Order: sequence, then C-alpha cells, then structure tokens
Amino acid sequence: MTVAQAHRTAAKHQPRRIALFGGSFDPVHSGHLGLACAADRRFNFDEIHFIPASRPPHKLKQHLAPFPHRFAMIALACSDHPHFVPSLAEAGEDFSGTQLHYSVDTVRYFRHVYHGDRIFFIIGADAFLDIPMWKEYETLLGLCDFIIANRPGIRPEALRLVIPPGLMGRTDAKKETEGGPPSQVVADLQRTTIYLLENVSSEVSATDVRRRAHRGQSIHGLVSVRVEEYILKQGLYR
Ligand code: ATP
Repeated sequence: MTVAQAHRTAAKHQPRRIALFGGSFDPVHSGHLGLACAADRRFNFDEIHFIPASRPPHKLKQHLAPFPHRFAMIALACSDHPHFVPSLAEAGEDFSGTQLHYSVDTVRYFRHVYHGDRIFFIIGADAFLDIPMWKEYETLLGLCDFIIANRPGIRPEALRLVIPPGLMGRTDAKKETEGGPPSQVVADLQRTTIYLLENVSSEVSATDVRRRAHRGQSIHGLVSVRVEEYILKQGLYR
C-alpha cells in the first residue's frame, strides 16, 4: 500500500488534521517553530508539513539560499518533533526547487493526497495581507481553513479587509478548536474558516538571522541547535 492509499484508508475512519506551513525558510527559525507548536497545541494536528518555497530563476535576485540548503535545515529542525514533516511538495520533478510553484496548486495536491482529511494553511498576518497578489487567491481561500498568526501592528480588521465580501458565507461556523480553547474567527467563508492565533509571534526574523551570520555574530537561540551547526558547517549567509 502506498502512503497516499494508507492516508485514504485512514481518512475513511476519522478525518486527520493536516497543516501546511509554507515560507522561504531562509533559514527556518525559532519564530517559525514557535508558531507551529502554538498552532499544534490549539488545533491538535496529526501532521504539520513545512514547505520551503521554490526559487524560480526569475527570482534569483532575491537573496535566497539554494533550495537543498533550506530543505536540509527544515529537516534538521523537524527532527525533534514527531509530527513535523519536511516537505518536498514544491521541490519540483528534479528536486531542484527551481520551478515556479503556487500555493493554490500545492493545496490542491495535498487535498488530493489527503483526500477526506481536513487541511489547514498556517500563515503569518504579514504574509496574509499580501494574499490578493497570489494566484487564484479567491479559490485558495475556499480550498482549506486558514490559521493566521497575528504579527505586531496588524489589526484583525485589516485581515478581514483582504477577503472579498462575495466569499463571506456561513454564520454557523464551529468556533471551538478541537481539544483546545476557542480561537478567534476572522471570517467564516462558504466552505472554510479563517482563524486568528494571537500572541504567538516572536521578534525573530530570517533577515535578522542572515544578517547576524553575515557579521559573524552568534545566532544561538534564534535557530535550533542543529540548524545553527548546519549554517556554520556550510558557511551559509557569510
Ligand atoms: P524574512 O525575514 O527573510 O522575510 P521570515 O522570517 O518572515 O523571512 P518566512 O520564511 O518568510 O520568514 O516566513 C514564513 C511564514 O512564517 C510567514 O507566513 C511569516 O509570516 C511567518 N513568520 C515568520 N517569522 C515569524 C515569527 N517570528 N513569528 C511568527 N510567524 C512568523
């Protein structure tokens, strides 16, 4: 039985809760892990997939470490967490991570593989405000539930403004998260719900980690010990 078939069989019994967490992850840092752990505590996921974004050739100007390094660091960071999964979903057929991928297609892929399960998309509020720039974002918002981690200075109303009024739907959404305290609901759409997680963001940013590594300053505590070791051994961000 393939993994996908096993997932389908499991789904027949009880829908699993699968979270997708995408980003540049250049590198994955304690802010990302803190958010994933907080979302996990609140929503009780069966799996959280960390999905490093591909780096298409036309975006090479952006200072993004090659895909294999970003994936390796995610794999190291996930090793302490039994249900954190390093994902190759956007690695492309040649695993180079140089083909353009869109979140809407990635979510479709997971909906196919985890047919019958419940899919959540974890995203920071800063990234959510940019979502109208994403391919088929209106479709994307209807494909899975969203969990937005609030970031300093972003008000929930600003998040709501991003959602086209035509997508607003149900008013009977289940506001309790299974096994945890209620989460604030930003919006109930026709088929999906957009949740807000407050007080889970930290000040850490990948930009800061790269800057410190570049200057030869310590990055201890900003990334996991294994990731710190990897960055030093590979001489990344110098
Ligand atoms: P950079 O500094 O290079 O812009 P970043 O630290 O924001 O990177 P990304 O890989 O771009 O990291 O972020 C992936 C996702 O994690 C985004 O949705 C972002 O909002 C969220 N995120 C990033 N840093 C934090 C943090 N400290 N706390 C909570 N969420 C975060």
